[in-house]
Amino acid sequence: MLVLEKLKEYAAGPERTALVNRGSRLSYRELDARSEAFAAWLLARFEGDFAPVVLRGDKEPDFLCCLLGALKSGRAYVPIDSTLPPSRAAQILADVCPCAVVDFTGGLAGEGARFLTAGEADAILSAPPASPVPRESWVQGGETAYILFTSGSTGRPKGVSITADNLAAFLEGVLPWYPQEGGVILHQVSYSFDVSGCAVYAGLSRGMTLFSVDHALAAGYRELFAQLGDSGLTFWVSTPSFAELCTRSRAFDARLLPNLRRFLFCGEVLTHTLCGMLADRFPAASVVNTYGPTEATVLVTAAEIPPALRQDPRGIPIGAPIRGATLRLEGEDGREVAGEGQAGQLVILGPSVGPGYLGRPDLTERAFFTDPATGLRGYRTGDRCCRVGEAYYYLGRMDNQLKLDGYRIELEDVEANLQKLPNVLRAAVVPAWKGEKVAYLAAFLLLREPDGLGPLQRTIALKKQAARYLPAYMIPRKLIAVDAFPLNVNGKVDKKALARRLEETP
Ligand code: AMP
Repeated sequence: MLVLEKLKEYAAGPERTALVNRGSRLSYRELDARSEAFAAWLLARFEGDFAPVVLRGDKEPDFLCCLLGALKSGRAYVPIDSTLPPSRAAQILADVCPCAVVDFTGGLAGEGARFLTAGEADAILSAPPASPVPRESWVQGGETAYILFTSGSTGRPKGVSITADNLAAFLEGVLPWYPQEGGVILHQVSYSFDVSGCAVYAGLSRGMTLFSVDHALAAGYRELFAQLGDSGLTFWVSTPSFAELCTRSRAFDARLLPNLRRFLFCGEVLTHTLCGMLADRFPAASVVNTYGPTEATVLVTAAEIPPALRQDPRGIPIGAPIRGATLRLEGEDGREVAGEGQAGQLVILGPSVGPGYLGRPDLTERAFFTDPATGLRGYRTGDRCCRVGEAYYYLGRMDNQLKLDGYRIELEDVEANLQKLPNVLRAAVVPAWKGEKVAYLAAFLLLREPDGLGPLQRTIALKKQAARYLPAYMIPRKLIAVDAFPLNVNGKVDKKALARRLEETP
């Protein structure tokens, strides 16, 4: 694996910082030694048991050590964000059957795996190195490197497996968008979201310093901007939503980040407004828009957005395929749509397309395939796109999946979990749009029996109950009790009518 090769190379060279976290530093040498110690422990403890390793936490420096250690030991890692409710984390553990769980957040327990606290992990990682872990032990080829869980339409998260070969293809395509070597890269995206791979895999492969921003730091401008000001940041990676949040403060400009030369965005629609603001505030930085689903390893298109494109009435393009990726648009009949500007479902073909969903051959078969003509692995994205010249444009989803503040959400997932609440008989969730983006979710609820509560009290009570099953970003902002759902001609809940009702609701 390139990232592990490069880690060794930089660890052997002059002192270089791999990660900065709230003022504490981890050098490439320390990262290599600590990940090596974890790999050695996994190999000794579990020998021929190659079950994955679950890592639960936020941006603890040892999270990265354990992640790379798992890869060195030939095991996949499964990141779980600290904000995920324990009940949802437990569903992931049940699907993964890990050999070990390192829980930096605390509170997870279970059987069948070795559970480690942050302190126990620290003791293992600090162990003096024995003989180096042989390269043959590293995750390689078609072996799974990580499994990421995303929102699933059944109300259970679904696991997307990505192999070492998929990661190699991603790196080959993305590294041309990176500086040759060095610099400081933003590491704000959660490990459980694959865009974090832009810092972890691409950043470390180029000897960059990961400037890590945990949840608490991201939540308040004062401390965040104080630390950003001292960061020497050169390369920004995030969802557009996080950058938008930062632009709300006037202090977010080139005086705060004088060395910043590039913004690389991924994960959701990039708007004209954000591009314009960044052009004004960071005249020396270029903006790159990229696009890709977790299933095809982080991103498969990229384009630099020069000032002329910032005015493009079609929207900001998602770009052209990166090296190694082939894109095709398909009509409803499955035939290729080749005409300029014609809309179709975007299909991705190439070595970055993963093997599929963990333990879900039914879902895998629906979305993944092997192209008979080329033998390439393919994935039907569910995204409507069109192509003009070299550039692709994103037009919207073909299903009920959406992005809210960069998070991928299936509306059915939210509905299924709201229906677990004791007094909720049925739930119908609709997005409220602001321009091209979803502003928030609203849930219309049919209660089992009158609760005697006012709308505000009810919302507070239901949100508290929902937090047992859903992460905060999936809990609808508005929860509206109704006597009956409007039905469409097919007898299904009429979501368009509910969306109209939402517009009329204060
Ligand atoms: P995820 O698997 O969380 O990365 O989400 C993938 C989905 O996010 C894609 O299928 C698109 O619907 C959406 N997406 C990703 N990047 C972009 C982008 N640059 N513009 C618009 N939508 C995007």
